[in-house]
Amino acid sequence: MQPETPIPDRVTLLADVAEIVSRSHDLNETLSNVVDLVAKRLDADVCSLYLCGSDLSRLVLRATVGLHRDAVHHVELSLDEGLVGLAAERKAPVVIDRAREHPRYKYFPETGEERFESLMAVPLMVRGRASGVLAVQTTVPRHFDQGDVDTLVTCAQLLTPVVVNAQMLESVSRSDREQAEDDASLEHAGVPIAGRRTPRREFSLELRGIPAARGIAIGEVHKLGADFANVTYEPSESAEQEEADVMRAILEARRELDDTRDEMGEQFGPDFAAVFHTHIQILEDTGFLEKLKDAVRRTGNALEALRSVLAIYRKTFERIEDPYFRERAWDVEDVGRRVIERLLGVREDAPALTDGAIVVVDNILPGYFARLDLDKVGAIISEHGGATSHGAIFARTLEIPAVTGVEGIQEKARSGELAIIDGAEGRVYLSPDEHLVAEYQRARERYDVAIHHLDAMRDLPAETRDGRRIQLTANVGLASDLRLIEQHGADGIGLFRTELLVLAHRGFPAEDEQEVLYERVAKALAPRPVTIRTLDLGGDKDIADFGIAEEANPQLGCRSIRLSLEREGLFRAQLRAILRASEHGNVRLMLPMVSSIEELHAARKVIEQAKRELEMSGRSYDREIPVGLMIEVPSAAILADAFARECDFFSIGTNDLTQYTLAVDRTNEHVAHLYEPLHPAVLNLIDNTARAAHRAGISCSVCGELASNPLAVPLLVGLGITELSSTPSAVPVVKEIIHALDAGDLDADARAAREASTAAEVHRISARRLRAAGLLDHPDIGPWLRPIIEAAE
Ligand code: PEP
Ligand code: MG
Repeated sequence: MQPETPIPDRVTLLADVAEIVSRSHDLNETLSNVVDLVAKRLDADVCSLYLCGSDLSRLVLRATVGLHRDAVHHVELSLDEGLVGLAAERKAPVVIDRAREHPRYKYFPETGEERFESLMAVPLMVRGRASGVLAVQTTVPRHFDQGDVDTLVTCAQLLTPVVVNAQMLESVSRSDREQAEDDASLEHAGVPIAGRRTPRREFSLELRGIPAARGIAIGEVHKLGADFANVTYEPSESAEQEEADVMRAILEARRELDDTRDEMGEQFGPDFAAVFHTHIQILEDTGFLEKLKDAVRRTGNALEALRSVLAIYRKTFERIEDPYFRERAWDVEDVGRRVIERLLGVREDAPALTDGAIVVVDNILPGYFARLDLDKVGAIISEHGGATSHGAIFARTLEIPAVTGVEGIQEKARSGELAIIDGAEGRVYLSPDEHLVAEYQRARERYDVAIHHLDAMRDLPAETRDGRRIQLTANVGLASDLRLIEQHGADGIGLFRTELLVLAHRGFPAEDEQEVLYERVAKALAPRPVTIRTLDLGGDKDIADFGIAEEANPQLGCRSIRLSLEREGLFRAQLRAILRASEHGNVRLMLPMVSSIEELHAARKVIEQAKRELEMSGRSYDREIPVGLMIEVPSAAILADAFARECDFFSIGTNDLTQYTLAVDRTNEHVAHLYEPLHPAVLNLIDNTARAAHRAGISCSVCGELASNPLAVPLLVGLGITELSSTPSAVPVVKEIIHALDAGDLDADARAAREASTAAEVHRISARRLRAAGLLDHPDIGPWLRPIIEAAE
């Protein structure tokens, strides 16, 4: 039998596949490059990729090296056929040493595969369904070991986002044909019409939407999303000229996107840049281009053709039930608008914004952030979209107040009228009366002054009046959050949520890419600590491309560290990236949701293996890197002494600890009133954890939302927590609270809170302390704290 693949080959294979995927412009070319590489590095005679057709019941050969190339697109098999079908049917890897002796072996003469002996096949999983299979075969008998399987599984996972993207775009082509050129209806489904005559209003109007980014803004409405339906466009005489014009517009838009991607990457980090890379892929999609050319030839009008093609895409995406896929419609829309601008030679957003403009859009498209003068944007309101779109994430990151999903805003808002937006509450007032304006002006001033004063204390340490020092770190998840750390004066990063990177990328970033990001963050903050948490996907943090199987109880299912241990290849790649970034000596590695010692041992084993792999490839890393645990499952809090002996630090994730202690799904609004992080039961678990950490001589922080909750601060300090990691903007508020407290009083408060029998009692204990510390009258945070304290008393 052949020897197994040497480890460094596997490592570089994954890095190279990720590289190919990140530069992917053409699906067929990408697939054929990947199969080529996999065959070479795994020393296999054949590597083939099969993808499911639209009905998901048949696999079609899409790329191969080793089988007859002519078989590509011709060989088809159903999921119950052959060994490749078996991997899709089982939704799991299939490894067979003597393939021809297997009852499921099926011979496809067109492929010329009778000479092959051993096979390893893994499915490409998308939302619990197999959407393809990646398979390798050898002519001599070979046993593929677990390392080979992990490597192939990881290759398949890296490939999946590109495949999903391409299939989405292909599905639009299909549905276009199916819709039988219903031109009339397409025209009506065109880009949204802004700037129509709107009925005049006598009174101010209050509208509600989804709070997407907090903050208060008062300013003039600027409606964006030019009314391309109403522009005058004179097509040239010939369809050929129109086609040439539209292709030129695409080329210019493509160049502009290249620049935008680089600029946004430079300014705000790779997570912003990745979104624009997706836009480039859309413009290079042959389906999109062909459809556009057809429409130009048919209509002889480039603008009309663009509008109709955009409408087709939009309608198709809107019919998809899955919200993740539905949101893709806005990426296509964003790209389309850019091309229309180039075609018309206009920049729709060029009109100067007045200071503090309230920008009203159909949806908050990422492209706006590159095009608008962000210094002038006071707030953004959108008619559509939720709080998790790219645009909403960008707004939050840049601290631009935003409300999304405000029904009717485009029709009701008039450019130039005054508007108020309250991003925390999701409220919008159009033409508000002067009393309301005065009230919100005061609220905004208080907000601005307080933020300013608080930020001015950024260099002061957080210390109680009697000198107990508390480390105040921040929870972040994107490189762009770095400036928030500086602005609000955090002592480091207590929780770097790496899954946000995956969500922003819509796929798993390559090891090198991860390393660049982690390294950038570690270097920027050194010597302050940077606590990088390994992937915490699953539960409510699901992403389509990751192929997380649907489960009846995802919060109790294969999430977080369980998922990482199941996808060991990806886990090791992430660990290597974190280790590689640890050279500055300030990186801490944190494992989420560990619930048993065995799980900790399993994770530690993979960490050791990742270290060995780096050593074998001559890469240096911090050999003393601290490895810590998130304590967010009651079993870990109860057995904290045992865990403390085997790790370097604890960080208590109170969001999950509350959910699992009180049996309340943190995402279920029906039981939201039962979700009570200040419940004495939760406090007792925090106490147990902090004491165990103290006995073992390791540090213990809190990084759940509780660390940002003013009522929790005195109690957590009293329970012996010495590091609080909160939302960046909460850091100065927490610091002010700590400055006003005497640690000597807090130990007794914490004891009383532990002995309380209801959360209401705990609230009262804390509120009394905050009042006694004079915080109600604090010039900056008093106005915020007053309602919280009064409600708790
Ligand atoms: C927590 O559970 O408290 C935590 C910080 O993790 P996340 O909110 O990311 O699950
Ligand atoms: Mg958690």
